[in-house]
Amino acid sequence: MPSDITLNNHQPHAEKPLPWWTWIAPLAIIEAGDQISLLFFQDNITSSFYLPTSLGLILVFWWGPLRVFPSLFIITTLNNYFYGFSSYWIWFGFGLGDSCSIALSWFLFNILLKGKAWMPDTRNLVLFLVFGLAIPITCYAVNWQFMYVLNHNFGWAQFLPHLRRDLLGETIVNIIIVIPTLVFLTPLLSRKGLIPIPPIPVSAFTYLTRKKHTLEVALISAVVLALAFLFDFQDVWFLFGSISLYVAIRFGFDAVLVANVIIFSATYLVPTINHPEFVNTIIEGGNAPIFFGYLLLFLFAAVTGRVISDLRIIERELNAKNKELQQTNVELDRFVYSASHDMSAPLKSIRGLVNVGLLTKPTAEQEDYWRKIETSARKLEDFIDEVLHYSRNNRTELVLEELNIKQLCEEIFSHLRYFNEGNAPGIVFDHSANRTIIADRSRLKIILNNLLSNAIKYQKKDPSHHPLISISLREDEDRVTIRIDDNGEGIPIEIQPSVFKMFYRGNLKSTGSGLGLYIALEAANKMGGKITFQSEYGKGSTFMVELPNQ
Ligand code: ADP
Repeated sequence: MPSDITLNNHQPHAEKPLPWWTWIAPLAIIEAGDQISLLFFQDNITSSFYLPTSLGLILVFWWGPLRVFPSLFIITTLNNYFYGFSSYWIWFGFGLGDSCSIALSWFLFNILLKGKAWMPDTRNLVLFLVFGLAIPITCYAVNWQFMYVLNHNFGWAQFLPHLRRDLLGETIVNIIIVIPTLVFLTPLLSRKGLIPIPPIPVSAFTYLTRKKHTLEVALISAVVLALAFLFDFQDVWFLFGSISLYVAIRFGFDAVLVANVIIFSATYLVPTINHPEFVNTIIEGGNAPIFFGYLLLFLFAAVTGRVISDLRIIERELNAKNKELQQTNVELDRFVYSASHDMSAPLKSIRGLVNVGLLTKPTAEQEDYWRKIETSARKLEDFIDEVLHYSRNNRTELVLEELNIKQLCEEIFSHLRYFNEGNAPGIVFDHSANRTIIADRSRLKIILNNLLSNAIKYQKKDPSHHPLISISLREDEDRVTIRIDDNGEGIPIEIQPSVFKMFYRGNLKSTGSGLGLYIALEAANKMGGKITFQSEYGKGSTFMVELPNQ
């Protein structure tokens, strides 16, 4: 069964045919709605809650126009008998207008825009408000006014005021009934296979509230009820919208829909049950702008709630992806570490065997081969060492201790293989270097090891050149800076932006892996520091390691 949420509502759910009763259910449901509407009959022509259109809108998105259009047409045509319209063509006029508008809503939103009626995001909600509700409601409300005028219920002068009243009433009733029903019931029905919409993944929803919010929700409901029963609607209408907006921001879309239903029931439904003319008093005349404001606040709150929920869903997905990524990173790191580690042992035996080979009095040619094998093995060993450093930097926590920079550098120099190749560089320690700083020993060693070996490796090859490396330390209030100057070949300006990149090698003659500076920078970053440099091609380079002064 497909569970892809990108599938559209109108795609038939081929594997499971809909139950037979879905052909007649619309007739029963719409008829029940019609009977309830008759209870709210007022001013001899309309009802305060005209439910057949709202129910038609819901059902058409669940079962499509083939099942819903005929039922709606039959009922909205025949119910004119109860509403007291005498001429049959007026009956058909009402029936056709209502059913065509509902079919239009389905066509515009579901087919043309491929919208999802369970409104899983802000885009779908806004499209539904415009194409699923506003346009069709306008169509049938305009049609109603024509029918009333043609039936002589009122004159043309009443056309616009009456239209405004019906539009306001219909919009609020539809928003309150249609949207929550579609949002809450569609996933349920689709899971049970009762509508031709593929099952909607639970992860696509935000939930009402958590247990810890129960008290807050109870308090909000109590405030709504108190406002509704203790004050005049005209005096406190904006407070309802504000409460609705608060719920939207605090709890999201699902919650604001429920809040809107509660507010609507307290301010509109209950008073109307007691006094059927209540709707007229708030929708008509001077109160119409108030009602319009009330409606707008509801709309803003619903859209805001949807935006907040979208953000929460995105945040949830991002967090899950992040966790997944972190896990993959850890696994990858573990793999790199153990693979590199396992490669070291055979390499060491190769080097041992090379040494044995060299003792067996080889010919000049054979010795050359042995040396080449040794060089390659060493290169590979260096590379593995660097990968291990990188992996260790990622895996291990900082361990801070007191370190004397001069001593640390001397220790490093004593192990540097290139030290005795070519012209041995002169090393100058500024007196400032003979001081201690607090840092992570293994990381600082990685950094200095790379910088110092580069300062030796990238010396000028000219035999008359005297390589010189000087090391100094500067301590400021918030950071310490270790500075390494060399008078080597320098770094050409055009490659300077790239030297810290992974696997970047400045020239083809470089025997390194191109990982050195990248790893050094990573280690510095891990300690909360950074590495910068200045270099002039042909003159030399200065690398500066800045670390927080602990
Ligand atoms: P490699 O393994 O090639 O040494 P690094 O990441 O350590 O990789 O350095 C990247 C490149 O930066 C080197 O290939 C080299 O061209 C340049 N470079 C780094 N340090 C120096 C330096 N002190 N003097 C001149 N060039 C340098």
